[in-house]
Amino acid sequence: MHFQTKLFINGEFADAHDGATIEVLNPHDNSHLAAVAEAKPTDIDQAVEAATKAFPGWSTTAAADRGRLLLKLADAIEAHGEDLAQVEALDTGHPIRDARLLDVGRTAATFRYFGGMADKLEGFIVPADSGFLNYVTREPVGVVGQIVPWNFPLMFTSWKMGPALAAGNTVVMKPAELTPLSSLKIAELMAEVGFPKGVVNILPGYGAVAGQYLAEHPGVHKIAFTGSTVTGRKIVQASAGNLKRVQLELGGKGANIVFDDADIKAAINGSAFAIFHNQGQACIAGSRLLLHEKIANQFLDGFLALAKSIRVGNPLEPATEMGPLTSMGHRDRVLGYCEVARKEGGEIIIGGKAPDDPALAKGCYLTPTVVCAKPQDRVCQEEVFGPFVSVSTFKDEDEVIKIANGTAYGLGGGLWTRDLRRAHAVARHLISGMVWINCYKRAHPGSPFGGVRGSGYGREMGFDAMHEYTYPKSVWLNVDASIPPFYKR
Ligand code: NAD
Repeated sequence: MHFQTKLFINGEFADAHDGATIEVLNPHDNSHLAAVAEAKPTDIDQAVEAATKAFPGWSTTAAADRGRLLLKLADAIEAHGEDLAQVEALDTGHPIRDARLLDVGRTAATFRYFGGMADKLEGFIVPADSGFLNYVTREPVGVVGQIVPWNFPLMFTSWKMGPALAAGNTVVMKPAELTPLSSLKIAELMAEVGFPKGVVNILPGYGAVAGQYLAEHPGVHKIAFTGSTVTGRKIVQASAGNLKRVQLELGGKGANIVFDDADIKAAINGSAFAIFHNQGQACIAGSRLLLHEKIANQFLDGFLALAKSIRVGNPLEPATEMGPLTSMGHRDRVLGYCEVARKEGGEIIIGGKAPDDPALAKGCYLTPTVVCAKPQDRVCQEEVFGPFVSVSTFKDEDEVIKIANGTAYGLGGGLWTRDLRRAHAVARHLISGMVWINCYKRAHPGSPFGGVRGSGYGREMGFDAMHEYTYPKSVWLNVDASIPPFYKR
């Protein structure tokens, strides 16, 4: 398979100025996939300069024309869907069936949504003082730096670049060092459909070097970041130099609550998807399973049986339901949490080990892991980011709301119940950017996505995202107002 391995700067693919590269591995067996150019500050400077030069032209291009390019890109993504799915599966370990349906499908859908959105972002007129016309337009912020993690690299190109470009900003994106391949493929498609030079620049590099430099860069007017809460704090500090705008999509510790009146079969299925899809490497994973004590045993019987039956295997096999984690370092970190759980008196009910299959021995694999723990334990408080779910029980609504809200995060959470009053009441009390009732992990390009508290601030998707990438400009025109002199001379 051909991989694009060069930096994308000013519409061209180029090696890093010092020839440095990052080795990209296949998480299935840790074999070499590609050597990708590694951006350093000099390369980032070039990209920011290109984005700065491109901004006046792009920001004044008719919104419908900006939208048309995004729509063309969505079509190109679908036309190259199989290639993109293969790249994503090889690079991240996403099962190919998910890569085809979810990663490629949602990426195209999100670019298409923002393509359509480009000319729908309207200003307004304020009924202000007599004799004045006061109108408000939405202006693009300028050059936008975007830093994304390794868990959904393809999808995040669209979440981040879709609204930024639709709104008229120019972009310098740094993909994660572990998984840069699908974003470089998107760069190829952007060049193919005719994005003007410099409007988009995509530069893989290490977080502490290229990422930090981009976040500090005085020529960058906004930084949009998705990643861990720890790095989020560094981004805020780095942004202080020129007071750039910051948008943070950080970690989560999703509470997934099952009440005693729930449709248990649906809850089992949805809860397994909530934690095991993408090997649990999702900020919105339902990583804390909170079970009403009356149905806990019945639920667990079914849930464990389903978890044990999940087909863990080579991501390229169409039957695979769970692939490897994205890196060995991360797999070991997740395994480390089994030790943490044991030390705190938790019980590993299933999993906590690599699969027995010798064909998977060299990869970053882990079997679905279910751990009984107390809500205050570290495994119920810290983001594990793997196929690792903690299980605790509760007695009533008040107690479960307290448990659910009892972490530093506030990203996504869900509940399963047949009681309409309870569904809305609990949803109202959850401190969370997203709540799912009788479903989990739903997302749509039109629906605001993001968190509160330790999960960050700002929203992706919909009109909220367009507002994140624009600022309101209030223009006052004296139509026929008579202004009495302020200085009576
Ligand atoms: P990470 O914070 O280590 O890295 C994310 C990105 O930041 C990478 O591109 C990395 O190179 C870069 N980076 C690292 N240090 C940096 C620095 N000092 N300055 C600038 N950039 C730097 O996170 P990760 O381990 O790659 O990703 C997993 C995390 O992302 C999890 O916490 C997960 O919850 C979070 N996440 C959040 C969302 C959301 O929408 N809220 C979505 C997906 C993932």
